[in-house]
Amino acid sequence: MMKYQVVVLRQLKGFGQFVTESRDEANTYEFGEGDERPIIFGEKLKAVERRTIMRKVREVLHVNCWLTTHKKGGDGGISGLCMSCPACVLFGGTYAPKKGGGAGPKNVVEMRRAFYTCAFPFQGGGIRDVTFNAVDERTGQTGQALGTNQIIEPRDFIDVVTVEADNENWTKLLLWGIEHSDRYGANTRIYGEIHNEVLGVVVDTRLRIAAIDLARKGSGEGVKTHLAADKLDLKAMSCPDSEIDGIITDLAKDEAVQDLARRKNSVDASVDEYFTKTAEKLHLKPAMTKKNNKDVFTDRTPGERLAFLTSKEKRSHYDLAREIEKANFAEPQDEEEEEEVK
Ligand SMILES: [Zn+2]
Repeated sequence: MMKYQVVVLRQLKGFGQFVTESRDEANTYEFGEGDERPIIFGEKLKAVERRTIMRKVREVLHVNCWLTTHKKGGDGGISGLCMSCPACVLFGGTYAPKKGGGAGPKNVVEMRRAFYTCAFPFQGGGIRDVTFNAVDERTGQTGQALGTNQIIEPRDFIDVVTVEADNENWTKLLLWGIEHSDRYGANTRIYGEIHNEVLGVVVDTRLRIAAIDLARKGSGEGVKTHLAADKLDLKAMSCPDSEIDGIITDLAKDEAVQDLARRKNSVDASVDEYFTKTAEKLHLKPAMTKKNNKDVFTDRTPGERLAFLTSKEKRSHYDLAREIEKANFAEPQDEEEEEEVK
């Protein structure tokens, strides 16, 4: 597998609020004596870009794939993922059937292929405290200060996002998502407009560059000069709107997607209710056997059930995943999609 290191110039236009849950302070890193710089954690960037890509994948493939964050009390887990589409292969995730299963596997956990670290700015300082106040709705007068938030001033950040893949299309999918995302952090109605520019991609069998080092090169131009001097080929790569639908359609047939879909389907097929409804939808009649005077399915294991469900028309596992979805799940409400990412 190759490592595609995508070098992204992220230009913050206006102020940004990038805080960690339960803290209102900007995250910083000290590059040197008196050189403290505000940073943006990769998780904040990833969450936005994943949503951008998922929207497009839903539009092109009509998959029932949603990202719902459990905000409180949980393990920071996510649910609603289809675990059988290109976005799920790229970003990974977990999947468990909503209904309890039988003896078969209970969930699918997938490693991701896109790796984010952190975006670092070329310069230090630029952190401001702003107080927010309660406004009296009747008089319009500003009341008592409620607290302070730290925001950061407009500036350029450099970032390196790595994709591990054996097919350039995975990188193109991520690249499209990066170029079509533009609001990040908390309070995106006011803050966090970022214009992303992909400077190029370094392709190698191992990691060659890191954003923390590139941030010392002063500017996007400085980064390019440095990479050229180090004989690192910054390959131009793009994914125009005219290509993205075709790329997503192609990736849906990729072996990585088929394999993930097969494992996810075997989890669903092990749940009797899902198995029954899907068979019904496909106009198949599962064979029954008597066991201890009870009617049970002849096909017991997930493997046997998958073979049965895919037998007719030699259905692919990706296609079977879509049929299982249509037979068993309703589309979630739109507000889950609109949930604010902090
Ligand atoms: Zn998915």
